[in-house]
Amino acid sequence: MNDPDVVIVGGGMQGATMALAAARMGLRPLVVERHRIASGATGNSYGFIHGGLRYLQTMDLRRWRRSRRAQSWFLDNYPGLVRPLACVMPLYRGRMRSPAAFRLAAAMEAWLVRTTGCAQALPAPDVLAADEVSADYPIPRHHLTGAALWHDLVVPDMQALMLAILSDAGVTGPALMEQTEAHDLVVRDNRVAGLRVGRADGAIEEIATPNVVICAGSWSGRWQHGREATSAATLAFNLLLDVPFPTDAALAVSELPGRGRSYFLRPHEGGTLAGTFYCPASGAREPDVGAEDIEAFRGALARALPGSGIADAPVRAVMAGLLPDRDGTGRSLSTSDIVSTAGPAGLCRILGTKLTTAPLLSFEAAHKFWPTEARRAA
Ligand SMILES: Cc1cc2nc3c(=O)[nH]c(=O)nc-3n(C[C@H](O)[C@H](O)[C@H](O)COP(=O)(O)OP(=O)(O)OC[C@H]3O[C@@H](n4cnc5c(N)ncnc54)[C@H](O)[C@@H]3O)c2cc1C
Repeated sequence: MNDPDVVIVGGGMQGATMALAAARMGLRPLVVERHRIASGATGNSYGFIHGGLRYLQTMDLRRWRRSRRAQSWFLDNYPGLVRPLACVMPLYRGRMRSPAAFRLAAAMEAWLVRTTGCAQALPAPDVLAADEVSADYPIPRHHLTGAALWHDLVVPDMQALMLAILSDAGVTGPALMEQTEAHDLVVRDNRVAGLRVGRADGAIEEIATPNVVICAGSWSGRWQHGREATSAATLAFNLLLDVPFPTDAALAVSELPGRGRSYFLRPHEGGTLAGTFYCPASGAREPDVGAEDIEAFRGALARALPGSGIADAPVRAVMAGLLPDRDGTGRSLSTSDIVSTAGPAGLCRILGTKLTTAPLLSFEAAHKFWPTEARRAA
């Protein structure tokens, strides 16, 4: 391919949607990925494109609105590659997650939908009676007063969605360089002039381009001055357990009924996909889930679903990724998306915190990064 207008480092959801944003502004992107497309956090995520109801617990209206807009983006642009999924969360008397608290959140969401114009594309949330859920799910019944029901989107085939986005961005053939690692920038007169990359066969190549966007997931923060440096990360993983899940919906449970961190379980490839569990990974370069991490997650699931046997099922697959966090302890997961243009002109770093909001962040960054093209395209 001729010299690209922009080289994007990273073939996850952030990189793919950044390529799409660039293409929609009339630029020719090239994507460089050191492994395979969606081999990082994107392809190992739980696959939820969530509508933001969870953020109303903490009255985080900004994140609610962003998630809602992002969910609509996926539905409008890739309707065949995402699907609605019913989510059920048991509610308990006297707990934060009680029917009264959930009804309040649902009423607030209905009001926000009316007043902000964020369309309600999926069925509105509802509260189910205790006996409607206790028969279907292996959940603790003591003090059970009902269950919250809402719908999120889920991505059934991440690879297919990613390839569709890249294809819409014109990133096919030579514009997609897999098994190619970005090493460092070529800078002239404090301007990006290119990117040096290493191919799988050891060859080093220089790609001439005036723009480089680093969308390298948890590795993005390491590109401080045009090359990698270490930064903190959390290890996050899901387990695909070799046991069928009893219903089509996703179930959200916690170790202490009605409070604490939630884990989801849903049917997937004939088994049960359980996630997401977080552990410290300070300084780790690749996700590495140890036997003790798996046991810790099994323990949490056993406490959340006592006597169900789900937690003891054989593990068919571990899906893991690294996520940016503030200190590497696994308890300070970053919730702030970062778009930085520090460094030579033509360099941008994007560090998103969610699959859900990746497209929104990419389009916002593109408009900030290439304001002239944005005006021309408007
Ligand atoms: C277990 C788990 C469950 C999750 N569940 C959800 C969920 O349900 N919903 C949700 O919204 N979010 C979820 N997330 C978060 C979400 O997956 C991430 O925020 C999102 O996928 C990040 O996308 P990304 O493109 O920034 O990073 P990644 O998908 O990690 O992509 C970065 C890519 O850059 C490549 N790369 C790095 N360095 C270089 C280099 N030097 N040269 C070339 N390539 C390089 C990597 O190989 C990688 O493929 C989950 C994450 C995990 C790990």
